[in-house]
Amino acid sequence: MEELKQSEQNKPCANCGAELKYKPGSQQLACGYCGYEEFIEQAKSSFEELELQHYLKAVGDNAYTETIDLLHCKNCGANQHIEENFKSLQCVYCSEPLIREDIEKEGWILPSAVVPFQLDAKKAGSIFKKWVGGIWFAPNKLKRAALDPESIHGLYVPHWTFDANMTADYQGQRGEYYYVTQTYKTKNGTKTRQVRKTRWHPASGRVNGFVDDILINASEKKQREIPTSVSFWNLKELQPFTSKYLAGFVTEKYTISLKEGHHQSFKKAKEIAYQWIRRDIGGDTQQIHHADIKLSDEKFKHVLLPIYISSYTYNGKEYRFYVNGQTGKISSSRPYSFWKIFFLVLFIVIIIALFAFFAQ
Ligand SMILES: [Zn+2]
Ligand SMILES: [Zn+2]
Repeated sequence: MEELKQSEQNKPCANCGAELKYKPGSQQLACGYCGYEEFIEQAKSSFEELELQHYLKAVGDNAYTETIDLLHCKNCGANQHIEENFKSLQCVYCSEPLIREDIEKEGWILPSAVVPFQLDAKKAGSIFKKWVGGIWFAPNKLKRAALDPESIHGLYVPHWTFDANMTADYQGQRGEYYYVTQTYKTKNGTKTRQVRKTRWHPASGRVNGFVDDILINASEKKQREIPTSVSFWNLKELQPFTSKYLAGFVTEKYTISLKEGHHQSFKKAKEIAYQWIRRDIGGDTQQIHHADIKLSDEKFKHVLLPIYISSYTYNGKEYRFYVNGQTGKISSSRPYSFWKIFFLVLFIVIIIALFAFFAQ
């Protein structure tokens, strides 16, 4: 059990000996028992951007720079790391109980930066409560779940970010619209109309620029997908990584490798290149026949981004709600209460029937 205290560098409270946890929205660790606070000293002044190609070649796809203690959820497969001693553990995604004895040491590429939590679990809970209060037809069980602080977990979700210089040589065509007047026959005689046509001109050239922070979620999706509506973080607030920010939260280890993340980022880079090319070609419309896209000076970071998750089961189905741990934005899949809707519809039907009756 003592082994769970992975970061022994996270000192206990100097005042009472309890565990210190990161205090959201601050640069401090705080003791939940006596209120003692301690300033987090930054190890580095800025975060490292790692040379991608060098890294992939030198250390390979399964490279790691550190080891961490991980709990592997048997139900949904998420890899979770808990920084301190928990009384009871549950998977943040599916609330499957996790057993301490199953902890395994695994390698990972140490994160270079983190967006620390800006809101605490209490605040996340009140955002959810307010949201639940504002929706119609929510089952009472959902409302009760909202009041249960135990169901809310703060999770750092792993991401890869990629930077690169991009050059693209292209060949295509620039289309310019023009209009011709056509005559056509109707029952009442002939009429004229304007018809749009496109005149094409060959176009070729080169575009280049810097692609900054292409963000790839490194947590394998399927049943654990985080909705895009809460997946916007301000990366300007990234802090150099220190495990102190993780104290009191759950951290997920990436399940999408650096190499796979890099493949995904190329698709996004290509979309950006095509936008640049279309702008470069100009005209009213464009065709791109061929684009030779080259990335150079590629850098990457492993970053951790904060989210609050609450998962609950209703009528045998799993539901989850999410609150962005930096911005407080909420998103959720929500169940409807059959009976609440049934009685409302019944009520409306009766009202209409009464109106019809008295109108006669
Ligand atoms: Zn204390
Ligand atoms: Zn799970």
